[in-house]
Amino acid sequence: MHDDSQQDAWSLETLAIRAGHERTFEQEHAEPIFPTSSFVYGSAAEAARKFGGHEAGNVYSRFTNPTVHTFERRLAALEGGERCVATSSGMSAILSTVLALLSSGDEIVASRSLFGSTVSLFDKYFGKFGITTRYVELSDLAAWEAAITPKTRLLFAETPSNPLSEVADIAALSALAKRHEAWLAIDNCFLTPALQQPIALGADLVIHSATKYLDGQGRAVGGAVVGKHDVLEEVFGVVRTCGPCMSPFNAWIFTKGLETLSLRMKAHCEQALTLARWLDAHPAVTKVFYSGLEDHPQHDLAKKQQEGFGAVLGFEVIFGQEAAWKVIDATRMLSITGNLGDVKTTITHPATTTHGRLSDEQRAAAGITPGLVRVAVGLESQRDIQHDLARGLDALLQG
Ligand SMILES: *Cc1c(COP(=O)(O)O)cnc(C)c1O
Repeated sequence: MHDDSQQDAWSLETLAIRAGHERTFEQEHAEPIFPTSSFVYGSAAEAARKFGGHEAGNVYSRFTNPTVHTFERRLAALEGGERCVATSSGMSAILSTVLALLSSGDEIVASRSLFGSTVSLFDKYFGKFGITTRYVELSDLAAWEAAITPKTRLLFAETPSNPLSEVADIAALSALAKRHEAWLAIDNCFLTPALQQPIALGADLVIHSATKYLDGQGRAVGGAVVGKHDVLEEVFGVVRTCGPCMSPFNAWIFTKGLETLSLRMKAHCEQALTLARWLDAHPAVTKVFYSGLEDHPQHDLAKKQQEGFGAVLGFEVIFGQEAAWKVIDATRMLSITGNLGDVKTTITHPATTTHGRLSDEQRAAAGITPGLVRVAVGLESQRDIQHDLARGLDALLQG
């Protein structure tokens, strides 16, 4: 007899495969897709009860959809959160969270090394409505504390950072947030719950771009917010009213993507560590940024707080931007793209792409040097990845 009442005792690998699916009367084995915009009722009275929220049930897919709900339950279980709300993208997950929790006059304190669009959202759009953001060094706890004012309602961080792999102490940030009655939101895109569980470390909210490792194969754009029931009810209200909901097709892709999450993340980490060590030993590389390397400034914290070090790393080549571009252009297999979180290895030049809109000073402050190359290590053979990078790196040494 099938029984998932034991779910509380399941480990992460099992939850990723089995949590959240409530079988329909068809007794399907795999998770079904419900591509329907609306739902029908047995009577006018039932419609009235469901519209009024007096009876649980689906009304309209901007509000709830069974396929989306399966994904939400599964991700909530993996993150150890009470509830998850899925969104159309990672950006709309952040947008919905801030719209739900903050008002004009409130302040955000955020790490300096954030995803570029998150910075635009905070500065250009929230700024228009009187929400101000102060940026601090991700790993400098004193700087976080100094930036907090009585108006601060939200602390927001990505850890580890992109592309330098800096790590923030989530438990310490959580203590700080609690002391100042602010929420702590962690963008957990780079590690996923397979490698890091911010809620267990004290974070109030976890934000995801499902577009990255949750899918893991570059097939769909989506996002999610995970946290406690009461806070998530507010986020749900925004998504329901403003409309950045996840499509059932995408929810199905993400649900199936989660089934291989643990395996993929383990493999991504092994691949990245091997590549980081190889790059570190290459004479054309001056520095490798990866928290899995013993000489990384937050290596011990990363080891304590994370199950693995993730698969995004940066490395600096000798001779600056021209050389960095040569290494990128010499690849024949790696995908030259700003995206990450894919079984296909991607390579990019942050200074002229993802961080291209920053001023020279901002870039320098963020540690994005002209010679920096970012690789999001995929699951192709290690030999082939190294071979593709060696072509350009070896050429640099020959002049
Ligand atoms: C990609 C990304 C986002 C935005 O997600 P989208 O799904 O592209 O909207 C947010 N945070 C991080 C860390 C990301 O890498």
